[in-house]
Amino acid sequence: MKKQWTGAEIRQSFVDFFVSHGHTFVPSSSLVPGGDQTLLFTNAGMVQFKDVFLGTDVRPYTRAVNSQKCMRVAGKHNDLDDVGRDDTHHTFFEMLGNWSFGDYYKKEAIAWAWELLTEVWGLDKSKLWTTCFKDDKGSIPSDEEAYANWVKQPGIIPEQVLFNGRKENFWEMADVGPCGPCSEIHIDRGAEYCNKQAVPGHICRVNGDCARFTELWNLVFIQYNRLSPTDLQPLPATHVDTGMGFERIVSVMQGVNSNYRTDLLFPLIQTVQRLTGHTDAEVAGNFTPYRVLADHARAATFLITDGVVPGNIGRNYICRMIVRRAARFGRKLGLGEPFMAKIAQTVIDTYGAAFPDLRRNHATILDNLTREEQRFQRTVDAGLGRLNELLGELRSRGETVLDGQEAFDLYATLGLPYELARDEARDQGLDVDETGFRQAMDEHRIASGAGKAFGAQGGEHVDIFRGVLKNLIAAGKLTVEGVAYDPYESLEVKDRLLAIVKDGVSVTDAEAGDTVAVVLSKTCFYVESGGQMSDAGSIQSVSGPAWEIAVEETRKPAAGVIVHIGKVTRGSPQVDDEIFAVVDTQRRWDIMRNHTATHLLHAELHAVLGEHARQAGSLVAPDRLRFDFTHPEAIPAETLEKIEAGVNQAILENYRLNTTIKPLAQAIAEGAMALFGEKYSETVRTITIGSHLSEGGSHLSEGGSHLSEGGQLLPISYELCGGTHVGETGDIGLFLILNEGSAAAGVRRIEAVTGRGAYEVVQRRFKALKQSAALLGSALEDVPAKAQALLDDAGSARKQIQRLRQDLVAAEFVRHLAEVPFVADVPVLALVLPNADADTLRQMTDRFRKQYPSGVVVLGSAVDNRPALIACVTDDLVKRGLNAGEIVRTIAQVIDGSGGGRPTLAQAGGKDASRLQEAIDQVVPIVKAKLK
Ligand SMILES: [Zn+2]
Ligand SMILES: [Zn+2]
Repeated sequence: MKKQWTGAEIRQSFVDFFVSHGHTFVPSSSLVPGGDQTLLFTNAGMVQFKDVFLGTDVRPYTRAVNSQKCMRVAGKHNDLDDVGRDDTHHTFFEMLGNWSFGDYYKKEAIAWAWELLTEVWGLDKSKLWTTCFKDDKGSIPSDEEAYANWVKQPGIIPEQVLFNGRKENFWEMADVGPCGPCSEIHIDRGAEYCNKQAVPGHICRVNGDCARFTELWNLVFIQYNRLSPTDLQPLPATHVDTGMGFERIVSVMQGVNSNYRTDLLFPLIQTVQRLTGHTDAEVAGNFTPYRVLADHARAATFLITDGVVPGNIGRNYICRMIVRRAARFGRKLGLGEPFMAKIAQTVIDTYGAAFPDLRRNHATILDNLTREEQRFQRTVDAGLGRLNELLGELRSRGETVLDGQEAFDLYATLGLPYELARDEARDQGLDVDETGFRQAMDEHRIASGAGKAFGAQGGEHVDIFRGVLKNLIAAGKLTVEGVAYDPYESLEVKDRLLAIVKDGVSVTDAEAGDTVAVVLSKTCFYVESGGQMSDAGSIQSVSGPAWEIAVEETRKPAAGVIVHIGKVTRGSPQVDDEIFAVVDTQRRWDIMRNHTATHLLHAELHAVLGEHARQAGSLVAPDRLRFDFTHPEAIPAETLEKIEAGVNQAILENYRLNTTIKPLAQAIAEGAMALFGEKYSETVRTITIGSHLSEGGSHLSEGGSHLSEGGQLLPISYELCGGTHVGETGDIGLFLILNEGSAAAGVRRIEAVTGRGAYEVVQRRFKALKQSAALLGSALEDVPAKAQALLDDAGSARKQIQRLRQDLVAAEFVRHLAEVPFVADVPVLALVLPNADADTLRQMTDRFRKQYPSGVVVLGSAVDNRPALIACVTDDLVKRGLNAGEIVRTIAQVIDGSGGGRPTLAQAGGKDASRLQEAIDQVVPIVKAKLK
């Protein structure tokens, strides 16, 4: 009987096969591309190797195999709209690949591909078709080498080896850069798989666009470097880059007609079925929403695991969109309550063994999904309400298509996704402009700093320094390993000046005032990495004429080259001069204190807030540290104090730090914390605080360990880290949190200081406290009580002043009340009073009315230069044509103000206090004119 393969077995056998052929297994990198701000998500297996192909990175291996987590949500490869509508599109997927970096080439790549598919996995040789490159434009040579290798594979049918043109069989990374021909392997799944039988004239064939022929594997042979559309140069070293869609090969091996019916995704479909209570027939009849829910739940689960929680911009926005789209399809299936966490649980169960991070982040995943669904439920009704208003306006204008920008604003402000708006519009016989929506979203995305095109890799400097490196190696001044880098052992080196680059050109000497980049054969200057800033310092001549370069930063522009960038402060440095380079020691110590404190803070956040509080960004500068981490809400002051106290306790314990170099896999297995968006090689440096991990991974006791549940000793902190650290935590001195706030949706930020920085803060604040105490004439500890007492005094004084002011106003008013002038038979008092607030003015009008049951009073006053007016007309006079509101509105114009009220009582404010009297002077003429 034929072996029935599980998805996990297929993944593992792929890896095992290539490991047995000398490949190094490289674990999947994060969905957030390491060190590449230009790419939204890791979208292919080659992303983590891109720098190797571009020559800016070197690896200790030349053969690699991996299964890479990928995301594609937009662009030429995929559109979110396709996902769910068919059996093959996904947002998240895995890509299997084997790689040769200047090692084996077509002969081995082709033979191994054939052997794995037909011998190991037992696919029918007669069903396999392969393709080779033949240029349809006739300018690039045909790939006869690949063809010759294919036709000699055992059991292959030579007629099933085809040639195709550029569109199918020539691969390019970008408009310029590495490229080459490729070979694809397709499988004929049989006539019953054809889904184009209804199309007139359809013939099933390779690349014929029906489901019968399926592409399994693409082998890319990188042998050229494209310099321009017409200039193709052969590369000195050739590479192999292959990609096999994991879900697809699993569907073929398991003999199912949909990726969603493999054992990777079908358990998710079944979970949804349990939630809806549908029969199998109902599931089949509603397969689109089922596929959407399975795909999106899997994608969101992996995104959150990699630190991408739902939010408003960039990657976080994509996560939100995916959760909300799933929620909408869930509604279609009648799911009213939050349900994503339940599907995510199945994702974790299905994938947890291959991706242990899923299990580690279990609680965070479920929590984030449920919160996002709840947020969506709260906003979606408001969004639909506003949409219906807009659609009503649209209809009344006689139009049928809602503007794309308006639809995007609905999304941006009320969280209503385009798809939902479109569905609602179409239900009413209207539509939404999709192009306009996408455009608005792209603009938004670019403005948010994400989703830009595959960008330049370090610019023109890469070439200059690569050239410098080549020349130095050729001249025997550097080994092929390049510049020796050791920022850990010493802070000074003696060496020779190997190269000077000024204004992008390699020169032999420089002058005082020049900004230069210089290369030595070895350096102890730290190069910015993992959030830790570069070192600064100085390079000086040790013999001959004196000169000095003040180094401001260091960089690594290409593999093997480290440059020191700075200004020549005196003299004239020349290539080959003997030099002495020294790192600014005090600055470096400040940085090391902040870096070690960052590790302690990270560990303390885990201990106090929980495992979900993972690093989402970090800056280690000389004057401060900044740490971003995933956490849904603001941290209360007492909790923050507890965290700060915990870090300081670890400092006082004076734990020793241990640095160990070990295999990445071992460090991960031991539970070392690895960070998002960081690239790791397979040998890593680990920093342990509080206990020592031996080579074998057992935990030895050495002060400052936690006992785990199993009674095993665990360190306080254990991280993969290439940074520089203090020897013992006591070196940090003091740790102070300056503030805590929001960095992004679901991400909090803590800024803190240590050592000298902390001392300065304490000193500054202590001084301020002492000054306050001196001003208050109190002891330091009594400052708060004394300040409170003063505030209370000031409060009652203010009240007293107000009372006195009212008394004064009243006295003034009473004088005028005795001699109110008449207009015809009506007493009319129009008056500016000094310093009366609105309240006082009202009281004065009441007094007037008590004395004059029939009459008009209009008062104006200004407090702190802000004028106010009040008018009062008795009922009987309203009947005779007078109106308080009208009077106030008219005269308020004079003071540049406005107001209103009832016919009997009205008031106004204004801006121009200097014209109050002028305004009041208008009252008598108005009364005269209006009075009947
Ligand atoms: Zn067909
Ligand atoms: Zn670190």
